Order: sequence, then C-alpha cells, then structure tokens
Amino acid sequence: MTRIDDLPIRDELRGKSPYGAPQLDVPVRLNTNENPYPLPEPLVQRIGERVTEAARHLNRYPDRDAVELRTELAAYLTKTTGHEVGLANVWAANGSNEIIQQLLQTFGGPGRTAIGFDPSYSMHSIISRGTGTGWISGARNDDFTIDAERAVEQIRELAPDVVFICSPNNPTGTAVGRETVLELYEAAPGMVVVDEAYNEFSHGDSLLDLLDGRPNLVITRTMSKAFGAAGLRLGYLAADPAVVDAVQLVRLPYHLSSVTQATALAALEYTDTLLAYVQQLKGERDRLVTELEALGCEVTASDANFVQFGRFEDAHATWQRLLDHGVLVRDNGVPGFLRVTAGTPDENDAFLDAIRATVKENS
Ligand code: PMP
Repeated sequence: MTRIDDLPIRDELRGKSPYGAPQLDVPVRLNTNENPYPLPEPLVQRIGERVTEAARHLNRYPDRDAVELRTELAAYLTKTTGHEVGLANVWAANGSNEIIQQLLQTFGGPGRTAIGFDPSYSMHSIISRGTGTGWISGARNDDFTIDAERAVEQIRELAPDVVFICSPNNPTGTAVGRETVLELYEAAPGMVVVDEAYNEFSHGDSLLDLLDGRPNLVITRTMSKAFGAAGLRLGYLAADPAVVDAVQLVRLPYHLSSVTQATALAALEYTDTLLAYVQQLKGERDRLVTELEALGCEVTASDANFVQFGRFEDAHATWQRLLDHGVLVRDNGVPGFLRVTAGTPDENDAFLDAIRATVKENS
C-alpha cells in the first residue's frame, strides 16, 4: 500500500496529521463549537426561495466580487458594532478558514513567518504550513491570557510577517483586551489578524473600531457560530480597502458559489432571530461555568460559546469516560483540560450529569 510519505510531497508536510476533530455518531456532540440550534423554519423556507432563484442562473458564473453579500455583511457589522464599515472594507470566502488561507497566501508564504499564541486555534499554524509560511509558537500565561510584554518582545525579535490574535481564543475562551491588541500592533512589522470567530458570544466589544487608520489590521469573522450556519461555509474579513484589494491577487476566481451567496443572504435577513439564539447560548455558557465550578473544576473564563475545564490528571481518560456516557467533548491537547461547547439546555444537562458521574468515579 502506498503511504503518504512514499509520495514526493513537500518536506514540511511529511509526518504531519490533518485537522481532525472526530465526527462521531453519539447522542450529545459538544466538540466543535457549533451552534446547537437548527436554522428556524421560516429561514429554511427563505433559503429555498433564494437558492431556487440562484439555480435559474447556474449556467453563469457567480458574482465574482459577491457585491450584494459583502454589502449586507458590512451592514451587519455596522449595525452590531456601531462602527461603520462598507462594501470596500469587507471580503468573504468559504469559511473564515479560507479567509485565513487567502491572508497567508497574500502576506505570508515561503521565506515569511507567522506567530500565534498557543494554545490557540490550530488552523492558524496548519494553514501557515500549507502556504509555506514558517510558524512561530508564542506562549501564554498560566491563566491563558497573552503576556503583552513577552509577546511584544518576541514580535520585535522575530519580526513575523503575520501576527494572529484569536479573541475570544479557541480553545480557552479567553478574550484579548484592546490594549494588548494595540501594543502588539505597534510592535508588529507586518499584518495583525484578529480572529473574532466567536465575537458575538463575548461580554466585551468587537475591535472593529480599531481598523480606522490601521491598514495592517484585519478582523476575521464567520457565519459558522453565531449564525448557526457551519454547513454553509461562509467567513469574512473587515479591513482597510487595500487589504481587500490585496487578497484579490490570490483568491480563486468565482470562489463563492451562487448557492453559497444566496444562502448567506437569506441568513442575513434573519439576523435578529439568530442573535436571539446567541443570547440564549451565552446564558447556557455561563451556566456551564457555574456548574463546573460548583463541581470543583478549574474553569477558564470564557467569552465564547464553549468552556475550557479541568484540571484532570489524565484529560484524555476523562474525555473517554464522558464519551462512554454518550457525550462528545474536545481534547485539544491542552494538558489537564478539555473543552465543551454550549449546547441546548438538554444537551448541557446531559453533559453535566456525565461529568458529575465521571468526577464521582474518580474520587
Ligand atoms: N477561527 C476560529 C477561532 C475557529 O474556532 C474556527 C472554527 N472552529 C474558525 C476560525 C473557522 O471557522 P469557519 O471556517 O467555519 O468559518
């Protein structure tokens, strides 16, 4: 049997594993930070209408510049953050992963480097590798916050071309203060990408207002979490119009299908309904924190739709025990910790019952 390493693949890909959150068929799946609520039925109907209309024109390529969609995304950002952005500031792609890839193709690449502060979203380093960008793993404090002083030192010394700041951070849930972002931006010689995939779940503000006068700053967002549309694959960025122009140099022509654009536009019509689910999930997230702490767990403060909890002597054994109870959470490899996504109240009850049983078995 031919193995990957028998092929003439690039050296930096040898022996590496692909991104792989297990997709297991278990009753309670709280492992990939999805929104547990299916889209409301009227929205499903509206998607049907919009997609039907798009289907009538599928003989043609889609709008390559996704003008209507970017205009609506800009309106959404303006409405929810109070900071005005327009079409020229916004770019969209198939998930924020593709946005990150386009950013690294544009501002990273062979001979260049990117830095992130680990533990953080693993795709920042995986996409760096995939685009030939060298990866620098910066450290966090014991409480998973970013040590701004140390980070600034590292940035000054290593001069990375791209700095990733994930806020709220996956997998820890930690929000990064605007002071820290500004300090890192001042130190960075290149681009600073703030990954706000979970912003809507945060207690604090978006950093969108920092874009004014900072052409090297990029904010990335997604419809996978707050909009409950992970299956749609729609991510976007807000930045100076020059950044939007720059990523055009690497994007594939017609990368966003007409069906994707139509579906995303329908979802944006239901913003208010979808954001009401976000409020409910924030309440459930806070309940998970309270209940886990009451159980004696160490819980990392969370601004996201998930909670990191521990500290376990053998986190993977605890992960397996929860799975034996029919509950799938995530082992991100952070020593002593696991991550649970806020689900529906019933799913969270099932998780809490399972973790209570597990803690009892342990004591
Ligand atoms: N950024 C972060 C921090 C994430 O956790 C995720 C999804 N797990 C993404 C980006 C990618 O999201 P998507 O490609 O679905 O937009």
